[in-house]
Amino acid sequence: MNKQNDNAAIVPRLRKIIHVDMDAFYASVEQRDNPEYREKPLVVGGLPQGRGGVVATASYEARKFGIRSAMPSKQALQLCPHALFVRPRFEVYKDVSRKIREIFSRYTDLIEPLSLDEAYLDVTSDKLNIGSALEIAKQIKQAIKDELQLTASAGVSVNKFVAKIASDINKPDGLKFIGPSSIEAFMETLPVEKFHGVGKVTASKMKGMGLHTGADLKKLTEDELIRNFGKTGRFYYRIVRGIDERAVQSYRETKSLAAEDTFARDLLTQEEMDDELTRIAGLVHKRLQKNDLKGRTITLKIKYSDFKQITRSQSYPQPVSDLETIVQTARQLLISTSPEGKPTRLLGISLSNFKDPDLAHRPEKLSLQLSLF
Ligand SMILES: [Mg+2]
Repeated sequence: MNKQNDNAAIVPRLRKIIHVDMDAFYASVEQRDNPEYREKPLVVGGLPQGRGGVVATASYEARKFGIRSAMPSKQALQLCPHALFVRPRFEVYKDVSRKIREIFSRYTDLIEPLSLDEAYLDVTSDKLNIGSALEIAKQIKQAIKDELQLTASAGVSVNKFVAKIASDINKPDGLKFIGPSSIEAFMETLPVEKFHGVGKVTASKMKGMGLHTGADLKKLTEDELIRNFGKTGRFYYRIVRGIDERAVQSYRETKSLAAEDTFARDLLTQEEMDDELTRIAGLVHKRLQKNDLKGRTITLKIKYSDFKQITRSQSYPQPVSDLETIVQTARQLLISTSPEGKPTRLLGISLSNFKDPDLAHRPEKLSLQLSLF
């Protein structure tokens, strides 16, 4: 037996992870390129005059008025009547994003972009043999400042979860290191709403149960967490102890965007499967929006309890990305397999046939790691 593997089983490998997040990215690029926008409350997104426009990014000056991403632009205008509103220039942001990734690639090839302005880097072994993840983060921030005239915040830790939270702590232009010995203490003081995957609904449920911080979550057993919060409970149980084994998934040519889930118990009824499909479709939809993508082909993947796997696809003449179409198509495809009574352990939905040729350089794994969330 390989000795190295033996050791690896006993001592968990400590990774060095950096999460880099650009500060108010779209707005900062606009302020950089248009001096007249600088030091002004600037909103990049839908115009308030239009129907259904929302804020994509607000400058820090605009945030002082309570303007936030995803807020209706009309509301943003009410909060700050003298705010400037501009439409996004995605081609420019994509180009800047490529330049940021080029800076990352000087240090490591293990880069996992989460969106145009955010990425995880695994610098456990870095190309320049710098060794210190904190030092690498400093250099990256400096290079972004010097070469692109933009600021980024970075979080440095031994796993993705903590690195991501850390990058948010001293924003903007922040840098925060949370080392292995301080992770558990840090997680204990963390408010529950800061936990990845905890939305407003879960947060208020947790608070109703008297769970306000990581320390409160830590008092619950894994079973109790799963009983109350479903599968995500398992993730909370581990993460509150500082355990997050997710690897940084570097990018390669990607032709599809998918979300799938393996169930703790096999699904048997079509109704159960429909419910899961609706949920998974929601995740795919969110991810499509985030990456500004539409696809012509929707594929349903089913894995049965005997691990036999099938896929069923449907293509459209025009690219689609709306939730309704994804849900309805996935359900129709499911019906075509006569699912009732067939023990099903995994369901997945993917979109492919993207119209955007630029997709050749998308992250390797846009599929969500549902087992962890
Ligand atoms: Mg950002």
